[in-house]
Amino acid sequence: RPPQDLDPEAVKAVEDVVVSGFFPASYWALLERVAAYYYTPLIQVIKTALPPGLLGKSQRRIRLSGDIPKGAEVFCTPAARQILELLGESKTGDYSWIYLRRQVPNATRGLHELSKKGWVESYLEPPKPPRAKLQKAVTFVGVEPGVELTDRQHEVLEVLRRRGGELWLTELQQICHTSSGLIQTLESKGCVEIDEREVLRTGDRRRRERDRPKDLTNYQESALTTLNDLRGFNRVLLHGVTGSGKTEVYLQAIAPILDRGASAIVLVPEIGLTPQLCDRFRARFGDKVLVYHSGLSDGERYDSWRQMLAGSPQIVIGTRSAIFAPLPKLGAIVLDEEYDDSYKQDRPSPTYHARTVAEWRAELADCPLILGSATPSLETWVDYAPTEPDPTRDRYRRRQATVSPAPTHYLSLPERIHGRALPPVEVVDMRQEFRKGNKSIFSESLQAGLNQLVETGQQGILFIHRRGHSSFVSCRSCGYVMECPHCDVSLSYHHTHEAAAERLRCHYCGYSQSPLDRCPDCHSPYFKHFGSGTQRVTQALAKQFPELRVIRFDSDTTRTKDAHRILLTRFANKEADLLVGTQMLTKGLDIPQVTLVGVVAADGLLNLCDYRAAERAFQTLTQVVGRAGRGGDRGRAVIQTYNPDHPAIEAVRRQQYEQFIQAELETREALHYPPYGRLILLKVSGMDEATVCETIAELAHMLQPEPGWEDIAHEVLGPSPAPIARVSNRYRWQLLLKFPPWVPVHLPRPLEELRSRCPHTVRLAIDVDPLNL
Ligand code: ADP
Ligand code: ZN
Ligand code: ZN
Repeated sequence: RPPQDLDPEAVKAVEDVVVSGFFPASYWALLERVAAYYYTPLIQVIKTALPPGLLGKSQRRIRLSGDIPKGAEVFCTPAARQILELLGESKTGDYSWIYLRRQVPNATRGLHELSKKGWVESYLEPPKPPRAKLQKAVTFVGVEPGVELTDRQHEVLEVLRRRGGELWLTELQQICHTSSGLIQTLESKGCVEIDEREVLRTGDRRRRERDRPKDLTNYQESALTTLNDLRGFNRVLLHGVTGSGKTEVYLQAIAPILDRGASAIVLVPEIGLTPQLCDRFRARFGDKVLVYHSGLSDGERYDSWRQMLAGSPQIVIGTRSAIFAPLPKLGAIVLDEEYDDSYKQDRPSPTYHARTVAEWRAELADCPLILGSATPSLETWVDYAPTEPDPTRDRYRRRQATVSPAPTHYLSLPERIHGRALPPVEVVDMRQEFRKGNKSIFSESLQAGLNQLVETGQQGILFIHRRGHSSFVSCRSCGYVMECPHCDVSLSYHHTHEAAAERLRCHYCGYSQSPLDRCPDCHSPYFKHFGSGTQRVTQALAKQFPELRVIRFDSDTTRTKDAHRILLTRFANKEADLLVGTQMLTKGLDIPQVTLVGVVAADGLLNLCDYRAAERAFQTLTQVVGRAGRGGDRGRAVIQTYNPDHPAIEAVRRQQYEQFIQAELETREALHYPPYGRLILLKVSGMDEATVCETIAELAHMLQPEPGWEDIAHEVLGPSPAPIARVSNRYRWQLLLKFPPWVPVHLPRPLEELRSRCPHTVRLAIDVDPLNL
């Protein structure tokens, strides 16, 4: 439905905004496929694919309107008063509505009240699309006979000529210590030309030592031979244990692709990994490497985007949205750590999985897709692994996505480089530690390992699962827990170094407040936060191992730009003995001196009520363990847990991938969970719980299979409240459609029909192939 107040003058063709002539048919086909598969309007998919800001959104902002009587706030409700106060303090005189809504409970009502009184007004700020950055360049022309020049002018011209005849204006000014006036005079005499050129903000321009291709091991060599022979759409699984040299294989496989004039996309799960991997690629390929992820500024992303369109052979390294990199001539797509959940977009629509989109993209671009992993996902395993044909099983083997059949290859790197051993894994039963009288959060074995680090000068990594320890604030006397006023979650404690301000924050809606000294319920002074997982562990370390130098690596300490790189470089330069952190340090990290890996509490990984919990725990723990012993010194790993017999823990200890995966596959098959069967999750939310419940009950009714087909058709599970039943004052219910392998996966009723049954106060979202139920 086109907006009615559209100004035809303001409408621009997409081609005018991006680059005319782009969006070849195969790229459109990709976007259309994403839109159809994930039940998302095409425009939403285009917005996902394009760099942010290009099709920018107007922003609603609120400002004071002027004539507010003195002391007026006395007559306001608390929400309205708070809005007035905030606006009064604002430097720019206004705030975005999104910000106010986060800061003020019941902000909507407060705003309504104030606008009725005419004390505030809201207005739309037009979008600010990114622009190219222009800079003045000076080009040497020469001196026509008869032109007079002072000595100084001659000098400047000579510098320019000697430096290749072309410099940025600012550069030339710096070198010659001269004003732009002098250079303009030269221009007016026809000796130089000054023109504006675009400067690309495509990130890091540091010089690096060049790195030569390594002599490959036999396994690497044989993988590379297969890869080099591939032409057209092929699907490859590179299954290599941690430290087996997968990255080296990607590097050497991509080199001939660039030589052929084509480009490659390399996807990594998280930004935290990008600096190290990018460094390795840059050391090999220099300026041909382009980085693309959400940590870049809008301008940088805009420039990277246009650089990709230029079509010269290049490598784009990025997180999931880089699968939409507009490379006209694509020669290969690599997905490293393909099992990682960060490849799936949770919100907003399209809730795409980069692996699924990568298959389509590779098919449309007719190029190979290479999935790399030490612990392939069950979905990938079922599709790519070589197994004996099994007719009873094969009918269950449905393709995840509807791609056309393509040659599939399984390449294996079963050993670490130079025959290095995988670290032995010791599982410590924390119940026994407690019985032995050890009250510390570190088991005796881990303590011994930490002591050894100090003695030997080797390095270690301590992993804390994000959800394992919470950082909530609670009362020791009455048990009261501080919760977000808008969501059914506890607030967590944050200590930001920059502002030195302590805040309690809601991770779901962004609400924050300052901490209280006393329990609001019983007024007890024993009202404390327990510290975030990493914070608590670093404190315990400081007490028990004062000589150990520790770097904390988590979302709090890596918030600033480049913090990942800085902290990892400091660690690699041995400025610390121990790296303590969460999820983000599990993957890809390649620091040879690390010999000890400790997992403080594996249990947080196991207790999720989710059919994928065991698989995820196995993958995460295998990755963490794999950080140890990658250099010359032998490594070891200690996993602390209260569930030492859990199959996932047992499998990590024995380092037996295939046995674990076979057992998991059987469970999934019996229950028709992916990869044997597929899921669509319907999420409904709204401010009024009764309306939400009514709506979802009606949808559940509409989505039931036709009478008489119940036995073999899809199942409707639910409705049930979402795991977090309220966020930003919106109640959330959900419905799961489970399709057995023999049923085509799509909504049994058209989406439009479902939407038409939702009152306008209720939001409906569709998640195809959901990862979090
Ligand atoms: P993976 O990606 O499988 O975890 P990497 O590619 O990071 O493994 O390799 C592990 C380490 O071994 C890296 O430090 C890498 O430089 C080194 N390496 C890889 N291949 C070789 C090789 N053929 N010869 C020597 N060193 C290698
Ligand atoms: Zn209390
Ligand atoms: Zn909240």
